[in-house]
Amino acid sequence: MEDKLKNLAVQVKKQLQQVATLDQLNQLRVQYLGKKGELTAILRGMGNLLAEERPKIGTLANEIRSELENLINERTKTLKTVAKELQIARETIDVTLPGKSFLIGNKHPLTKIQQEIETVFLGLGFNIAEGPEIESDYYNFEALNLPKDHPARDMQDTFFINTEVLLRTHTSPVQVRTMEKTAPSLPVKIICPGKVYRRDDDATHSPMFTQIEGLAIDQQITFSDLKGILSIFARQIFGEKTKTRFRPSYFPFTEPSAEVDISCVMCKSAGCRVCSHTGWLEILGAGMVHPKVLAMSGYNPEEVSGFAFGMGIERIAMLKYGIDDLRLFYDNDLRFLAQF
Ligand SMILES: [Zn+2]
Repeated sequence: MEDKLKNLAVQVKKQLQQVATLDQLNQLRVQYLGKKGELTAILRGMGNLLAEERPKIGTLANEIRSELENLINERTKTLKTVAKELQIARETIDVTLPGKSFLIGNKHPLTKIQQEIETVFLGLGFNIAEGPEIESDYYNFEALNLPKDHPARDMQDTFFINTEVLLRTHTSPVQVRTMEKTAPSLPVKIICPGKVYRRDDDATHSPMFTQIEGLAIDQQITFSDLKGILSIFARQIFGEKTKTRFRPSYFPFTEPSAEVDISCVMCKSAGCRVCSHTGWLEILGAGMVHPKVLAMSGYNPEEVSGFAFGMGIERIAMLKYGIDDLRLFYDNDLRFLAQF
């Protein structure tokens, strides 16, 4: 028994010298020290020994066992170090590999169109003016020639906060606030972009939408100035061949007032579903600033005149990009938004 143990120790030590990988080392450990290993088998056989031999053999077996375990552990460490060094030696940076790409966002289509429109009017000498989205009844209605009992107030389903405070239904209050501040100095040339709120919700209306309005006041401003400015705007946004036409309309804050159409961008005026086979698309409302509005804002309507116009940015974006449902702008679907 003693010889058997000593032989086994010699054998293991010999094999350890030849082990080259961690896998082989592990096999060796299982083969001798594992549950079904050879050393374990010998120890199990101790029951057959004479009682006086057992302590001596037991001690020897334990000594051999722990010696072999130590040897195997040491060898494991060495092999791991060697493997690590080999790996580091092999690893090189391949500069020809493609880099990691990051997802870069893009501008929202409404922001894009708004900035395009702003660029056109900045180029025509207008400045950008902004104002509060929570507005008083006075600035949203009364100062725009819409007193409390005016029937045209029904044209705009309003979100009231209380009887005097509301969410602005158009960006026109910004025009009034600007005129109040600058009157009586001339000229005034501003555009007012921003969010507005009305109680509307379907494929072409949203309770929140974006408007951009323009205002110009000076001596001898005429309707032909308005036509000229809006024709330039239409050509720059929708293409050089775009035609414009003005139809008489009604707004309480302008007189005379007009709806402005452009030649259909889808069918080039041939007639299609989008333009209801008329060849024309309505894009905005405009007119000469009402004398009462000028007077309320501190200008003398006998001496100065002006024009104003307003449009929905969503509608311009829908026509320009051929989008048929306004709600897509607010759904936050990346498949939609990434197209612009
Ligand atoms: Zn058409």
